[in-house]
Amino acid sequence: MTTYFRPSVEAMTGYVPGEQPKPGTNIIKLNTNENPYPPSPDAIAVLRNLDSEWLRRYPDPYANEFRLAIAQALEVPFEWIIVSNGSDELLNVVVRACAELGRKVVYPMPTYVLYRTLTDIQPAERVEIPYGEDYRLPIEELVAVNGAVTFIATPNSPSGHIVRIDEIRQLAARLSGVLVVDEAYVDFACETALPLVKEFENVIVIRTLSKGYSLAGLRLGFGIANPKLLSGLFKVKDSYNIDAIACLVGAAAMRDQAYKNECTEKVKRSRTKLAVELKQLGFQLWDSQANFFLTQPPKGNAEQIYLALKERGILVRYFKQPGLEDKLRITVGTDEQNQILVEALIHLV
Ligand SMILES: *Cc1c(COP(=O)(O)O)cnc(C)c1O
Repeated sequence: MTTYFRPSVEAMTGYVPGEQPKPGTNIIKLNTNENPYPPSPDAIAVLRNLDSEWLRRYPDPYANEFRLAIAQALEVPFEWIIVSNGSDELLNVVVRACAELGRKVVYPMPTYVLYRTLTDIQPAERVEIPYGEDYRLPIEELVAVNGAVTFIATPNSPSGHIVRIDEIRQLAARLSGVLVVDEAYVDFACETALPLVKEFENVIVIRTLSKGYSLAGLRLGFGIANPKLLSGLFKVKDSYNIDAIACLVGAAAMRDQAYKNECTEKVKRSRTKLAVELKQLGFQLWDSQANFFLTQPPKGNAEQIYLALKERGILVRYFKQPGLEDKLRITVGTDEQNQILVEALIHLV
């Protein structure tokens, strides 16, 4: 049979996103780690008052208003920032800029499944290294591979654990390729690897507005790195990767750090409460610095519980993957949502 596709595309499995029911559906959605609170009122006001002239024209190819808001909020130089259509796009840009036949992309497992998908599209060699006991970072093994790209998600998904900055520093110092630190959940965490971009030219810290800022539908992410590293990425990204609406709304959300912090603090308080309740039900839980938990139900019947919750209108994430078949990843919702989840679970464990 003929195929239209490159062998790498023919052979790969496509990424399978979590279920996305329409807004307004009566569902408690704890499967894709969205923030349960609405976006900043300032961001919504910008959207409501948008002049249609912004739509008629092409957007700013560098989304400088958004970049400026990031520079101010994080106190990093403007030239050290690249913005993207969701952080997923930036992960893809890094892979496309650096990976090719004979070069390796490497990351510890389990982690964000998209790293695998993005690598498999390219003709590059993918190396997956299992995390050690209690999610110990396999530094020596990662260094030995010395990939063109090394991915570390911290806090990691689906485990929720954080990789300490001194370990990332050791890795950065010993790698000659690009080290991507994916901080999608940093807004819920106690530490960031951001200082490392000043110490190492090969480190890029990638963030998103999808989780902490409640803007997953808008598609905005950004990266912070030495301008020398960014120069290659700017060549590879789509010229108009940020649309005009996202640029303006995202800038407003970024300027409203107080609101974002208020929401993430609420989620962190709910996280503490939910952990206690899940443990009382006999669930095994990994310490999480993110807005979700990886949990193991007492009888290990994760798929059965996932399906039963779904029938009750509660979505959680089940990964049919080696090592995860007996676990569920549960997003921390509002206290009310978490309570409904816990009450449903009482009848299922
Ligand atoms: C959610 C997530 C992202 C991507 O989010 P975008 O919506 O594309 O910005 C990136 N990395 C990890 C680990 C995530 O969980």
